Amino acid sequence: MKKNYLIIGSGVASISAAKAIRDADKDGNISIYGEEASLPYSRIKLSKNLMNDLNNDKILLKKPQWYEENNIKVFDNIRISSIDIKDNLIVTSEGEKIPYYKLLITTGANNRSLPIPGNNKKGVFTLRDIMDANNIRTYLEGRNNVVHIGGGIQGLETAWTLHTSGKKVSIIEIGDRLMAKQLDKKASLILKNKIEESGVNLFLNTTIDEVLGSEKVEGIAVNKNKILPCDSIIYSIGITPNIEIIRNTEIKVNKGIIVNDNMETSVNGIYAAGDVAELQGAIEGLWTKAMDQGKVSGSNMAGNNIKYKKAVPITMLNGFNISLLSIGDVNEGSYDDSIEEEINHKYIKIFIKNNKVVGAISIGDVTYSQVFKTSIEKEVSLDGINLKNISIKNFILEIKNRLKS
Ligand SMILES: Cc1cc2nc3c(=O)[nH]c(=O)nc-3n(C[C@H](O)[C@H](O)[C@H](O)COP(=O)(O)OP(=O)(O)OC[C@H]3O[C@@H](n4cnc5c(N)ncnc54)[C@H](O)[C@@H]3O)c2cc1C
Repeated sequence: MKKNYLIIGSGVASISAAKAIRDADKDGNISIYGEEASLPYSRIKLSKNLMNDLNNDKILLKKPQWYEENNIKVFDNIRISSIDIKDNLIVTSEGEKIPYYKLLITTGANNRSLPIPGNNKKGVFTLRDIMDANNIRTYLEGRNNVVHIGGGIQGLETAWTLHTSGKKVSIIEIGDRLMAKQLDKKASLILKNKIEESGVNLFLNTTIDEVLGSEKVEGIAVNKNKILPCDSIIYSIGITPNIEIIRNTEIKVNKGIIVNDNMETSVNGIYAAGDVAELQGAIEGLWTKAMDQGKVSGSNMAGNNIKYKKAVPITMLNGFNISLLSIGDVNEGSYDDSIEEEINHKYIKIFIKNNKVVGAISIGDVTYSQVFKTSIEKEVSLDGINLKNISIKNFILEIKNRLKS
């Protein structure tokens, strides 16, 4: 009898899992249930294309034909409201019960906002899905003054898109610098200067107190005594995994659904992957990680036994007239040596620990991303290199040679 593989949620983790299942099981039934009114699409394109028409095939992860060819069924506009573990069933919000052989939960996450007074006024948004993007675009027609809360990568991309579309944009960040997880202090400062030079207002060390206005946003009160006039507010301050579906089940949960490195939950045969999954205490919240986790879970659902291995994290930003790359571990205290160069508007710093490259930041030149990535992954030894007296260019050449041999 054909096996019934069910996947709840229709994002990148689900597609990646469906493909892995089909690679391992040519006959099984694969069904994806998603509450959005679309085939799975590239969520990361939402911030870059916020002001464009998103209701077209260009952002779909796979064209309709791919699903037909691979015999994968996608049921859109269907919310799954519960899981009946005892009888191996999922239940739709309409009450329909669907049996499964193996189940994968990829319900993703929602973007957080803050429960401050006035937060429910018209003009306050988060950007998570196509509907949010369409609502923001429609609301901004004829409006011009946007406050963006959050100075992480997604927030900066959104702010840049709005700025290039002619809106007046201010970024509010609670921390004392930008992208603190991905950049060192010097790189954060370069980025800050670039943002301000481009004409976007940046408020660091700023906490928000209240959204002002009668029904609609008219301003935001910050730092106890300051008012910034604005007509709309967009939050990008992190995510909250969508775990409602496993409430009242025995599946273990912390902030996300807890999984082992097979991406299996505490209940046999039920897996979780992507932004909803918590592995070793962490929710990775990144596109490529969701893809990798989906692949591992799908493959294991179909009978394999593969482990998820965390890939080297990479963050890239193209905006504010710079290109920026952060790769690997660049945290203060995680390295014992470094090489740094700042020449002609370019800044590169390579982080070294135990005589191996563990991370790198590069602003103004991202051409070395692959060399950095491979040297971190392969743990290339730096024995014999005089780190005190070598240019970045020669260091890269040496690494390339060592990678070849
Ligand atoms: C605007 C934006 C920009 C981003 N940019 C980057 C970037 O540059 N780099 C990067 O690495 N990451 C980025 N991310 C994060 C990245 O998009 C996520 O890590 C990734 O999409 C997670 O994939 P997923 O499949 O786990 O979940 P999701 O993509 O969130 O998909 C989950 C789906 O499940 C559906 N769902 C939820 N509950 C139910 C239910 N009960 N029943 C049915 N369906 C349900 C949801 O509606 C959603 O469609 C960005 C995210 C956003 C929002």
